[in-house]
Amino acid sequence: RNHALAMSISDVGWRTLLGMLSYKADLYGRKFLTVNPQNTTQTCSHCGHIMTGKNKLTLADRKWMCPNCGIFHVRDHNAAKNILAKGLALL
Ligand SMILES: [Zn+2]
Repeated sequence: RNHALAMSISDVGWRTLLGMLSYKADLYGRKFLTVNPQNTTQTCSHCGHIMTGKNKLTLADRKWMCPNCGIFHVRDHNAAKNILAKGLALL
């Protein structure tokens, strides 16, 4: 009911999750990185085309086809590929 309170609680939850992931990564000798999430959903992981304007994907768009290269995407799989590429670019 209290939007500001709910916001700070969810913020604490997120920080706790990031802390746990960092701890686990160290424990298993893995690298934990955070990346800028901007356009990770809207970018075609195959050709780099960014969906903008009236083509911009909404939360309801679970599957889509890139208008530039014609490749078919499952929304979250495409975003995961973009996030991985951003992380690997930081190494
Ligand atoms: Zn494409």
